[in-house]
Amino acid sequence: MLSIENENRIKQWIEDHKEEFIADLSKIIAVPSVATFGVSEGEYPFGVESANVLAAAKELVESYGFPVKNLDNYCLVANVGEGEEKIGLFGHLDVVPCGNDWNYPPYQLTVDGDLLIGRGVLDDKGPLWASIFAVRCLKDLDLMPKREIEIFMGGQEECGMNDLLHYVEVTEKLPDVSFTPDGNYPICHGEKGGLRFYLAVPCKDEKVVDFSGGTVRNVVADKAVATLKGVCGKALSEKLASNKRISVESEGEFVKVTATGASVHASIPENGINAIGVLANALLDAEIFEGEAKAAMEFLSLVNSDYNGAALGVPAEDEPSGKLTHVGGVISLDRGILNLSIDIRYPVTENGDELLKKIIKTVEPYKVTVHDIADTKPAYSPADSDKVRTCMRVINSVFHKDHWKPYTMGGGTYAKHLPNACALGPEDPDYESPFGLFRGSIHQADESTPAKLLFDTMLVYAKLLVELDDIDINK
Ligand SMILES: [Zn+2]
Repeated sequence: MLSIENENRIKQWIEDHKEEFIADLSKIIAVPSVATFGVSEGEYPFGVESANVLAAAKELVESYGFPVKNLDNYCLVANVGEGEEKIGLFGHLDVVPCGNDWNYPPYQLTVDGDLLIGRGVLDDKGPLWASIFAVRCLKDLDLMPKREIEIFMGGQEECGMNDLLHYVEVTEKLPDVSFTPDGNYPICHGEKGGLRFYLAVPCKDEKVVDFSGGTVRNVVADKAVATLKGVCGKALSEKLASNKRISVESEGEFVKVTATGASVHASIPENGINAIGVLANALLDAEIFEGEAKAAMEFLSLVNSDYNGAALGVPAEDEPSGKLTHVGGVISLDRGILNLSIDIRYPVTENGDELLKKIIKTVEPYKVTVHDIADTKPAYSPADSDKVRTCMRVINSVFHKDHWKPYTMGGGTYAKHLPNACALGPEDPDYESPFGLFRGSIHQADESTPAKLLFDTMLVYAKLLVELDDIDINK
């Protein structure tokens, strides 16, 4: 336990370094560090701006006396202190684009009373810098914990996380426990697992010229189109006239049937309407297919008849993280085979391999196969584990919010790709932006945060790093 005397020393240190923190943060905010995805520029895997912010951060963190490694312009890693075990702190320096709607200069830190405004003040430059200052504070006050601290500063969190994947690949020993100040308070103790694959559905039929839908795999398809041949457009149009989500057009010998759904993210599919399912149902209603094409439509209809895995034989659910979700995001026709992408978010206590076995067995009778499988394991620490309880105690000692409870989510922060990791802070779920509903928060115009939230986050991380000394972090 941290003594009251030492806690007061930490608080005084933070008080004495507020100005310096704001000055340093403003240097980082001044770099418009939007990372590229899939487009490298010379030796910069995420473009020049991402590399620039890494360079600016390296200079500052080295000025604090911490040795910093630049891992091929993917990310920075600073190691402080020593010990057999290692605690990781993971934040990112890239930002989402600012758009044209700002009332304040996006890449200049504005201080307005207690309010800080600028792209990245809350996501994630501000919180990352607060956690770095927390380590500085402990070093200055000779309060370093018994474990080594590894600070990761990423250059591409917002579009791909290849910064972290590169680090995981080249790092010999990953931290034993990690925290990322890139979520909500208090602590996210579980991120669901992610299972992604394609279903190959046989659909050889002269009438089916093309069948496509959706744009990305992690969003419910909002549009699907079937191009047909050898069917009467007028008759089809009349048959489906009452279906408001369907339109039928004739183009020469072809008939195009378009379904409109409602797109939502794959972590909350129940709020959407899948256009692929709408289209399959309409074509079944019209009774134009027989044989393989009819079976294919029946299968698509079935897969999209629920969002919680029942159709795939995996209706899983658990207490900490709720129901499994699944969506068919993208579909295309290739040489008589319909390839439908499936994005599953499965509960934290489930096992991806076991789920996959059940799915393969469920689709087998339809002559459907599974290919291109990727499984991201869930991140989970039980709410009553020593680690989560210690985090909650420290957070409560700073924020005094008794109604805050550890939460889980569909994913995903950096934590999902790291062993024994949690998102902890910095967003206050009770806070309302002074600029209204769609302005002032993360990813929005005029991104802002009270400075107090960052200083409180600094205190949380400083206290936590010390208090973790008292527990076995693997329990
Ligand atoms: Zn973030």
